[in-house]
Amino acid sequence: MPLPTDTFLPFALPDLGDEEAAAVLDCLRSGWITSGPVSRQFEQDFAAYLDSDVHAIAVNSATAGLHLALEALGIGPGDEVIVPTMTFTATAEVVRYLGADAVIVDVDPQTLCLQAEAIAAAITPNTRAVIPVHYGGLACDIDAIVTLARRHGLRVIEDAAHAFPATLRGRLVGTLASDATVFSFYANKTITTGEGGMVVCRDADVARRVRVMRLHGISEDAFDRFVSRRPAWFYQVVAPGFKYNLTDIAAAIGRAQLRKIDRFLARRQQLARGYAQGLAGLPLVLAPDAPAGSQHAWHLYPVRLTPEAPLSRERLIERLSEHGIGTSVHYIPLHRQPYWRDRYQLDPAQFPHAEASYHAQLTLPLYTRMTDADQARVIATLKELLC
Ligand SMILES: *Cc1c(COP(=O)(O)O)cnc(C)c1O
Repeated sequence: MPLPTDTFLPFALPDLGDEEAAAVLDCLRSGWITSGPVSRQFEQDFAAYLDSDVHAIAVNSATAGLHLALEALGIGPGDEVIVPTMTFTATAEVVRYLGADAVIVDVDPQTLCLQAEAIAAAITPNTRAVIPVHYGGLACDIDAIVTLARRHGLRVIEDAAHAFPATLRGRLVGTLASDATVFSFYANKTITTGEGGMVVCRDADVARRVRVMRLHGISEDAFDRFVSRRPAWFYQVVAPGFKYNLTDIAAAIGRAQLRKIDRFLARRQQLARGYAQGLAGLPLVLAPDAPAGSQHAWHLYPVRLTPEAPLSRERLIERLSEHGIGTSVHYIPLHRQPYWRDRYQLDPAQFPHAEASYHAQLTLPLYTRMTDADQARVIATLKELLC
């Protein structure tokens, strides 16, 4: 039994500094703390980072953003939306918010992303949309998925919660040919606002609908009214909207985080290379890198035990924890969650790839504040436990 360590290494941590603190203080002192000039500026900064041709709409979570995107694209009762089983429940729950049904399908055995072939096999006359998830920060083949979707009249909404800034064949996720892309700024994502998200799309009508429904279905937002020449009391409700706006306090953090994204990405890439080198030869399937010409965002570093491993995934997670190393599992597949299993009578046998991964998978610590020494400790501990 090795000596217990007094420093527990969590599997994820946000990277916030004096810049974020100063930006929040500026916002507090400005007197405008809810959605206003800073969230506007955050939207412009984010759109500019991607490509100035896109609309970016800040929201208070990616879950809210996915809900708004589906709503704006006309998804409703009786519709079916195809989602991968290897995701967080948010990807599928938003489909139910709208009274539509989620059709949960298996993923590619290597990348754990949704593939066009699996989508094609699940299409019925009621299918209206598909939500590919860029698992871990590795982009799904959106080009192939969009080609298939156009043939069948389906909408494509990318769940890009892990994928800022990933590229597919040199183009950033958020600028691809889908109908909408939704990013998450939850605390453990590649940039954070505490809670927050961004809906990105090219269609001006979709963007307008998302903006209106983001704030109670009111045709102009509160800040517009605040600065408007028209009397400030006047507004018009055009739909029963939601309360999904991002505060300026959160957007201030987001703007500061966005300025650091190139450094953050470089560090994540460095840590991913460190694992690829340090863990080679162990009984592990390592996280696949993006193909040449594409860029992995490295939100997660998922690995899978091979059958030769001397201990189970459960036991390895316990032993790592005893050594002061935090891990996670991405994901308990949706088909194993009681709500989804029971609603759609799902059986693990329908999801052989996700099942094979699930029983062997764990996610190693990977975040910008990890030191080289932290990573060396993870690697050394894995060598000790797996050899
Ligand atoms: C984090 C996450 C979400 C939800 O993001 P929130 O901003 O917390 O709502 C959705 N999908 C996936 C794949 C995620 O990892």
